[in-house]
Amino acid sequence: MRPLFDAHADTLSRLYERGGDLLENDGHFDLRRAAAYCPAAQFFAAYGFDFDVLGPLAHRLFAAHADRVALCRTAEEARRAGRDGKLAAFLSLEGAETVGCDGARLRAAWERGARMVALTWNHDNVLAGGAEGAGGGLTPRGVSFLRLARSLPMIVDVSHLSDRSFWDVAEAMEGAPFVASHSNARAVRGHLRNLTDRQFAAIVSAGGFAGINLYAVFLTKRETAAWEDVGAHIEHFAALGGARHIGLGCDFDGCARLPEGVRGVGELDALYEWLLRKNYPEDTVRDIFYYNILRVVGQICDT
Ligand SMILES: [Zn+2]
Repeated sequence: MRPLFDAHADTLSRLYERGGDLLENDGHFDLRRAAAYCPAAQFFAAYGFDFDVLGPLAHRLFAAHADRVALCRTAEEARRAGRDGKLAAFLSLEGAETVGCDGARLRAAWERGARMVALTWNHDNVLAGGAEGAGGGLTPRGVSFLRLARSLPMIVDVSHLSDRSFWDVAEAMEGAPFVASHSNARAVRGHLRNLTDRQFAAIVSAGGFAGINLYAVFLTKRETAAWEDVGAHIEHFAALGGARHIGLGCDFDGCARLPEGVRGVGELDALYEWLLRKNYPEDTVRDIFYYNILRVVGQICDT
């Protein structure tokens, strides 16, 4: 079977808002469709609602389907889940607002399984400037929050930061790996949510990854997107020497428009096939689909 490790989905927020189950639903992601891949792993983000609400929801859903999914905190636990034929479920925080931008609450979220944190969503907060904010960088409070995140350890996600915050974080990481969980190449699609070549190079040299986002708006200026557009972002990052630093961060259940013909996680198989047809070595495709992210999770979380 094909492997799959996706770095970003907003499925928890969708289920909280609209109801429905993780096993089967009419959104982009559910356990039945994810079962087409093995080993399979997914970062479930807390977005838009407090982690005190979405964390317990996640634990309830994982417990209700314990035969199919296991909460994981390390790459080793993800490997074990894969051997057991279960989805390795990781928790992340999309915006420190989900823990009130508070260090003690970040630690509490870590204790309840959260292993990745983005300091902001698109808006500025007390820690940092966001992608659609006033353009500010990391605040002194942000610097100590980041230091705490690193020490727990939690993976630091720069996907929604302003450019200035990005560089402040890159510097504060002191060469340690950090990631953009769901961001594409700005040279291919000029959008503030996408990474410049220099930003991607900084992620590569720190040993992190960028997760390719399937939201059509981040892929192309055109109304509709196709696998060609996804491929253009992968191709661009790979040409910058980053094939070992590309993953998937599909933004399932957090984006309004996927590429044509894509309903959700069930169709990622078609992307795998498409990349093989474009003469990507299967090892590279497997790296992009699973192993690059697993490696980074292992480096940061299995300590
Ligand atoms: Zn996002």
